[in-house]
Amino acid sequence: MSEQHSTELPSESIKKKNFIYEIIDDDLKSNKWNGNVNTRFPPEPNGYLHIGHAKSICLNYGIVRDFNGKFNLRFDDTNPSKEEQEYVDSIIEDVKWLGAEFEGRLFFASDYFEQMYQFAVELIKKGKAYVCDLNADEIRATRGTLTEPGKDSIYRNRSIEENLDLFERMRKGEFKNGEKTLRAKIDMASPNINLRDPIMYRIVHEDHQRQGNKWCIYPTYDWAHGLEDSLEKITHSICTLEFENHRPLYDWFLNELGVYHPQQIEFARLNLNYTVMSKRKLLQLVKENFVDDWDDPRMPTISGLRRRGYTPEALRDFAENVGVAKRDAQTDISLLEFSIRNDLNKRAQRAMAVLRPLKIVLTNYAENQVEELEAVNNPEDASMGKRNLPFSRELFIEQSDFMEIPPKGFHRLVPGGEVRLRYAYIIKCDEVIKNETGEVIELRCSFDPETKSGTGTSTKKVKGTIHWVSAKQAVPVEVRLYDRLFTIENPASDENWLKFLNPHSLEIISDALVEPSLRNAKIGEHIQFERNGYFCVDSKISTPDKLVFNRTVTLKDSWTSKK
Ligand code: ATP
Ligand code: MG
Repeated sequence: MSEQHSTELPSESIKKKNFIYEIIDDDLKSNKWNGNVNTRFPPEPNGYLHIGHAKSICLNYGIVRDFNGKFNLRFDDTNPSKEEQEYVDSIIEDVKWLGAEFEGRLFFASDYFEQMYQFAVELIKKGKAYVCDLNADEIRATRGTLTEPGKDSIYRNRSIEENLDLFERMRKGEFKNGEKTLRAKIDMASPNINLRDPIMYRIVHEDHQRQGNKWCIYPTYDWAHGLEDSLEKITHSICTLEFENHRPLYDWFLNELGVYHPQQIEFARLNLNYTVMSKRKLLQLVKENFVDDWDDPRMPTISGLRRRGYTPEALRDFAENVGVAKRDAQTDISLLEFSIRNDLNKRAQRAMAVLRPLKIVLTNYAENQVEELEAVNNPEDASMGKRNLPFSRELFIEQSDFMEIPPKGFHRLVPGGEVRLRYAYIIKCDEVIKNETGEVIELRCSFDPETKSGTGTSTKKVKGTIHWVSAKQAVPVEVRLYDRLFTIENPASDENWLKFLNPHSLEIISDALVEPSLRNAKIGEHIQFERNGYFCVDSKISTPDKLVFNRTVTLKDSWTSKK
């Protein structure tokens, strides 16, 4: 029952147009980049990737696939205080799993630190950067507002020689954290606040995960990012909308240096409802144990979705379906569920599992008889074949498939009523057995031997079909059902967002029963428990002795509602 995930991205999506594709198309026609199309995905290794990052990866990788270009994975590891190797490792794993092939083009911004330093020296020599002694508060206080210009720093007119000397001493570690910065000398009255002498370097006496103690000055995002793109000969530097106001600065740095100059293009970030997406919030959920870890199946992280049973194909399909916009919006989580259902419907083996068992005894079925009944593995794909299901006198059905006092339209089992057992016989409920507290604990039923699925001679018809497992052969397993992590659509809009955590986001059923063919189910396998949803074996806590299944997603329709 094992399966393969293709690493090829779907070809039907090729040339699906969005405004970025149009820009690239035009650039190719005008030969702006000599026919090159180079993109990158530039994560900061300060957390695990989430579904929004998947969107960005699929966009950047999809472009090079469709235009025959090159895709880089580059870590923007410029801030040693928040970054960790664990995050680097998980990001590489997630990008590969998504099928975004970087063919060894794995880069680290920190490997460019020396070049960045030399570029900064160049700007100082041009009189375009200066060492400033104002502290963070003072810099903020003199920056001005949207309506008022900022004030020039009193250190703004230091001589080039003095700046070169101070900058070198900053690098050598002669100053304490925050004592000095290197700032670009642009315009304190610019209507764009990002151009009011932005900081290029900060002093941070902290070891870097790759560079050790080599550096104690670290570049800011704005200074570093364009240089990274330039050094890697990126053609189209695609980022999210919040960087639109930073583009003039991106351009200013590269123009002043006169180096290779990629084009920055912004698109709207993906927002999903009923979850949070900021890395800071996701980290808080992990650190304060609101979830099990970054890969908790309720998390919107790629690793969480993978553990939940999402496939790379479904995430890529979702990324395509969401499209690329210029304006922020919220995407409904049902679009994501649509993609995974679509994919799993095609690939998932069907099986019978009873989540909340109710015992059935077939009083007219021979005591020790076991019959093997034939069941279809996937009605969508005949090549997936058939399997046998053991059938015997004692069975379990779903508690919810029996009602003593049924509402109108209930077509499953009722006292005196009949129902079909999937792939088996029609049974009739003759007697209801209860315990002292009045709880139904067993049904005594009779089966009609003429009604065997496929071969029976009876023409009897019943409205309902239900699933079941044979008591003796069924395998006890744990099943985990998931609901939305938050109770409101946009928890991030409230500063007390944690109070909207859904207390019922995880339900653990420790005594579910599955058909014996699942005894050897493997991690990564996708199985549809008929009528109960798509499931997978959990990759972290499942053991051969006690399998643990995660519900990936519910089924939209179950065959019970059909005739
Ligand atoms: P932060 O900057 O707060 O750490 P981030 O999510 O922006 O968080 P990055 O590591 O900088 O983290 O993101 C890497 C890339 O992913 C960036 O190019 C960014 O624009 C893109 N990205 C991040 N979040 C989303 C999102 N929700 N939708 C689409 N792209 C995103
Ligand atoms: Mg970012």
